[in-house]
Amino acid sequence: MGGIGLPRRMTGRDDGSEIVNLESRIAELEDELRETQARLRDREGMLHALSEHANDLTYILDRDTRFTYVSPSICNLTEYEAEEIMAADPGGIFHVDDLPIILTAIEEALKSPGEAVAIPDHRIRHRDLRWLYFEGSAVSMPDVPGVNGVVFNCHNITERKHQEETIYRQANYDPLTKLPNRLMFADRLTTALMRGAREKNCVGLLFIDLDGFKKVNDTLGHGAGDELLKVVAQRLSDCVRQDDTISRLGGDEFTVILPNIHGPGAAEIVAKKILERVSEVITLGENEVYISGSIGITIFPDDAEDEETLIQHADTAMYEAKSAGRRTYKFFTSQMNRAAIEKLELETELRTAIEREEFDIRFQPIIDLASGAITGAEALVRWNHPKRGLTSPDVFISLAEEQGLIVAIGEWVIRAACAEVGRWREAGFGQLRMAINVSPRQCQEPSFDTRVAEILDEMDIPAGSITLEITESLFIEGAHEDAVAALHNCRNKGSHLSLDDFGTGYSSLSYLKRFPVDVLKIDRAFVNDIVTSAEDRALCQGIVAMAHAFNVKVVGEGVETEDHAAVLRELACDRAQGYLIAKPLSSDEFSAFLSSWDGVPA
Ligand code: C2E
Ligand code: MG
Ligand code: MG
Repeated sequence: MGGIGLPRRMTGRDDGSEIVNLESRIAELEDELRETQARLRDREGMLHALSEHANDLTYILDRDTRFTYVSPSICNLTEYEAEEIMAADPGGIFHVDDLPIILTAIEEALKSPGEAVAIPDHRIRHRDLRWLYFEGSAVSMPDVPGVNGVVFNCHNITERKHQEETIYRQANYDPLTKLPNRLMFADRLTTALMRGAREKNCVGLLFIDLDGFKKVNDTLGHGAGDELLKVVAQRLSDCVRQDDTISRLGGDEFTVILPNIHGPGAAEIVAKKILERVSEVITLGENEVYISGSIGITIFPDDAEDEETLIQHADTAMYEAKSAGRRTYKFFTSQMNRAAIEKLELETELRTAIEREEFDIRFQPIIDLASGAITGAEALVRWNHPKRGLTSPDVFISLAEEQGLIVAIGEWVIRAACAEVGRWREAGFGQLRMAINVSPRQCQEPSFDTRVAEILDEMDIPAGSITLEITESLFIEGAHEDAVAALHNCRNKGSHLSLDDFGTGYSSLSYLKRFPVDVLKIDRAFVNDIVTSAEDRALCQGIVAMAHAFNVKVVGEGVETEDHAAVLRELACDRAQGYLIAKPLSSDEFSAFLSSWDGVPA
């Protein structure tokens, strides 16, 4: 506010009237002054009120980051008294990590007075210890009297920050276990490898897959499955240090990044700890559940130097741990890599094998042990691999199952087997039955039964000419209701059902009650030792007795010697299949075999 200027004429010589005029003028000016002061007070009050209710705040910090002024709004937002803020250390009000931002702003503002310096987001403490986020600008005003320092003008962006955090969490964390997800895992792995390379340290990568999780999900429901995953996530967290990263990639797959280790030993210790912790009983409601984990381990930079290869290696090693019987860990080895590459090649070649007509089929005779008469044959698929030559189904069936290719291959086998039955019928051997192996995956396919019926119809073969061979794994993998129903339908139409490889799986005869079959095949592992091992003989005897009680015929597989055949006959086993009678034969060889067979094993 400027001083009161005297009118020019008042500077002239004094007389009485001029004094009177002067006095009244002074009174007028005093009135004006009072009015101005009142207006200023009002304005100040309004500014105060506005500031108090504003979301923005103004404060002044001196060179030593001490508050010299705080706007009322800061008290409102933080619930601190102005005096408390003014008396506090800057570290008591600002987040210590953000202090450099404030210091830099002060420095910059002092360097160029009058110019606003932008301040990125920084945190100010609320009385209840939460953090509020602000951003704004700072300006130094050395010419304005009373402003002792740098003026900060900031607005509250806490809500926006929280929204950003929520979006970030949703994008980077698994909502169920709250662990980092695949995206965050990839990010952390990249960081870990960069740091490992810089500091010349190793990085361990563990891939963990739970064993038996599907069973919990299927039997106790998804709610229980989710609970279990949460418990496992917690247990995994208990096994690692703070700067290790555990992620859930999806389903029951977890990973652990050990960012700073000296070698494989440290990864092994963590893997052991995890296996132990995960195997402890888990209580889900009223159920006590036991599961375990299979872990694949790979080490940077020994096994690979890039993320993608490391991930692949850890995955390969994890599968290796699964095949080694689960509940164990395996380090990646270059040999595994060769096997994995070979598997991948085989998988690619298998995809085109049908089109290229590379499959072939062999028929192995089955005879009646009492009479020696041929009762039929088993169709056994072969792959005429362009490089490997005639390849055994043991090499490619499980791969075909994994890839779902078994459905197409299986259908090709059914056709080829039926074509052979057609030839038998023409040659007057219409009474023989053809046993065809069927994978669980194949009969789980919708309308498997209709498909079989169509093929039989198309090839004009009676349903009674074929036996479908299934394995116990169909039940172990959680009997697929539709698959069981489809197989029953086939049986109702006259085809037989046979339970293959009996004795190798869980071998529960209770399956026979739930799932009526016509034939049971004792696995060759038992037949092999039937002469020398009293236990195996007793086992076969038990199987035969019980099967007969269910009206089920028994075939001994892998009959290689006269002695095998003799013992099986003694145990009242009905039929035999094996090298003693014949190896799997081509169609022509089988025709020749049929005409030469005189009922006596050669
Ligand atoms: P499997 O169904 O138990 O077939 C019997 C296997 O034992 C055949 O092996 C046969 O060659 C072999 N074998 C027969 N007699 C003897 C013997 O006296 N001694 C010995 N050591 N072995 C004997 P192969 O042909 O290699 O087939 C292996 C398995 O592959 C089969 O076991 C079956 O589970 C599967 N498989 C074969 N063909 C098919 C198919 O078309 N579809 C499906 N899903 N699986 C098939
Ligand atoms: Mg079989
Ligand atoms: Mg078998």
